[in-house]
Amino acid sequence: MLVTMAEILKRAREGGYGVTAPNVQSEDTVRAVIRVAEERKAPMIIDVNAFIHPDLPWFVHMIRELAGSSSVPIAVNLDHGRSYEDVMLGIRSGFTSIMVDRSGMPYEDNVRETKEVVRMCHTLGISVEAELGHVGQGTNYEVDGIRNLTEPEEAARFIKETGVDCLAVAIGTAHGRYKGKPHIDFARLAKIVEACKDTPLVLHGGSGTGDENLARAVRNGIQKVNLATELVVAGKEELESFMQDPNFDKWKLIPAFIKGYEDRLTHYIKLFGQEGRAWTV
Ligand SMILES: [Zn+2]
Repeated sequence: MLVTMAEILKRAREGGYGVTAPNVQSEDTVRAVIRVAEERKAPMIIDVNAFIHPDLPWFVHMIRELAGSSSVPIAVNLDHGRSYEDVMLGIRSGFTSIMVDRSGMPYEDNVRETKEVVRMCHTLGISVEAELGHVGQGTNYEVDGIRNLTEPEEAARFIKETGVDCLAVAIGTAHGRYKGKPHIDFARLAKIVEACKDTPLVLHGGSGTGDENLARAVRNGIQKVNLATELVVAGKEELESFMQDPNFDKWKLIPAFIKGYEDRLTHYIKLFGQEGRAWTV
């Protein structure tokens, strides 16, 4: 069934577990995510980047059809809506949740633009995620990993001023592959959790952060973990191993990729305590 992200994350916050938000690229990956969610009886957040598909309204319509007839609660979230146009296209496409990413802007501008999106989306029953501080790229980790981390008091103020449903925080993770070892600022996370009280928190850049760090982040107050790179790399590795056999069956190439993607996603569902948390209405 289709739900908003706010419903999923509110329950995760109360239940003390985390929810994976895998990035999807195709019908195959969408079906893989829903299949795994149903097998594990897990609520799920499907993350879609605006640039991932040339026909976003069609792509989201397809996801909504599949998610709507699924036995588990599923939210469909626009990941990193970076412009007014992205957000408007997201609303028209039928996302149940939208991330408005103005994390590259000064605080006051981020508040102003996020607040405007919250007003539009909440009128339409759509949840909103925003980002404060800035989660950078792993390839530039020496610089991005240590600057623009989220300030706890500022985060509390931001939530109050904008009315967002959940907040992505920068505590030392990065997008893509890390250059160097990730250092997660758990002391900062504890202060953010304390300051932000009941608002669910999101961690971008889950890939390559490591099981120990991610499980600890979830135990200490993160409710949504975004995963993209690692799932695709797991698919690629499974595909490469399948192709080792010189007589491989060409019709099983995509299923081999999907197996790797699914296995990795299942691993995280178990790690975050998301298994068995699906509810029915
Ligand atoms: Zn992200």
